[in-house]
Amino acid sequence: MLPTDTLTERCREKALELGFDVCGFVSIDVELRRDYYLQWIEEKQHGTMAWMERNNDRRLEPRNILPEARSILMVGLNYYQDDPDMRGRIAKYALGKDYHKLMYKRLKLLCTWMREQGGAQKPYVDTGPILEKPIAAQAGLGWVGKSTLLLHRKHGTFLFLGSIITTLELSPDNVENDHCGSCTRCVDICPTNAFPTPYKLDATRCISYLTIEHQGSIPVEFREAIGDRIYGCDDCLDVCPWNRWAQKTRESKFHFSGLPDLADTLSWTDEDFSEHFQGTPIKRLKFPRWKRNVCVVLGNIGTTADLKVLQSLAQSDDEIVAEHASWAITKIEERSSNGE
Ligand code: SF4
Ligand code: SF4
Repeated sequence: MLPTDTLTERCREKALELGFDVCGFVSIDVELRRDYYLQWIEEKQHGTMAWMERNNDRRLEPRNILPEARSILMVGLNYYQDDPDMRGRIAKYALGKDYHKLMYKRLKLLCTWMREQGGAQKPYVDTGPILEKPIAAQAGLGWVGKSTLLLHRKHGTFLFLGSIITTLELSPDNVENDHCGSCTRCVDICPTNAFPTPYKLDATRCISYLTIEHQGSIPVEFREAIGDRIYGCDDCLDVCPWNRWAQKTRESKFHFSGLPDLADTLSWTDEDFSEHFQGTPIKRLKFPRWKRNVCVVLGNIGTTADLKVLQSLAQSDDEIVAEHASWAITKIEERSSNGE
C-alpha cells in the first residue's frame, strides 16, 4: 500500500487524467451543517422535491453509506459555455448532453484504480444522498457562496460535482475561505426574490425549480419574472464576479447542438420532442411541461406572429398547457394594443 500522501496525489492525478477539472479530499467525518439542512426541509423550502426528505441518516452522516469508509473524494467538471443566440434561454448546464452518464463512467474507472490500491468505493453523481456542495467545499474545491452554489477560484460556479466514498485513507485538502466579501450581486439580481437571506435559497421561488421540478401550473405571480427562461435560470451564476475567468468546457458533449425557433417547437409531436432532446437533461421535462414553459416565455417575449400556434394550443386537451397558452395570448395582445 502506498503512503497516504502519495496515494492521495496519485488519486488526484488519475482523476485529472480522466478529464475532471478539479479533485479534492475530505475525511468521512466531514463537518456538515445538519441543523441548517433539517430546518430548511422543515420550512418546506425544497417544495415538492420529496427525495430531499428521505435518507437523511445517510445524507447527514456519510459514514452510514459505507461503514468502513475513511474518506470522500470530490471531483468537479467545468461545463461553462456562452449562451447561444436564440429566442429564449436554457440554463447552461442543460444546453448539451446529460452529464450524469459521462461523469459516472469516469468515476467508475477511478473506482477500479482505487480498488487496485486496496479500497472499496461507492461513486455518486446526483444519484445518492450526498450533500455535494458543502462536502466539496470541505474538500477544498471552493466555498458555498451567498448564492448557495459552490464557487471555485478558477472555474467559478460552473462545475458539475461527483463524489466517491472510499475505505482508503486519503489526506484531506485545506478548506477554502469564503471570498464573497461584501458582494450581494446574486441575491440582488434574482428575479423572483428566491433568497430570503444570503446563503439560503427558497427553492419554491426559484425559476430553476418552477420550470424544471414543478409539475403543475406555474403560479401567475412568477410568470412575468420568468422572462425568456425556458428551462432553468443562470442569473445568479452569470452575475457572479468569480465567473469572469470561466473558460469554455472541453467536453464537446456539453456543447449546444441547436434548437428550432420556440414557436415551431410547439407544433412538435411527443416523438419530435423526445428525438430532439434525446440524452439531454431537458428530455425528462417531457413535452407538456416544455409547452407550458414555452407559453410563459412567448407570453413575455412573443409577438403577434406567435399567436396562431398559441391559439391552437389554447384548445389543447391538456388543461395546463391550454391555460398557459391563453395567458400568453392575453399578454401578447396587451403588448400589441399598447403599440409595443
Ligand atoms: S437560479 Fe435564478 S431564480 Fe433561482 S435563485 Fe438564481 S437568480 Fe434566482
Ligand atoms: S455573486 Fe457575489 S455574493 Fe453571490 S456568490 Fe458570487 S461572489 Fe458571492
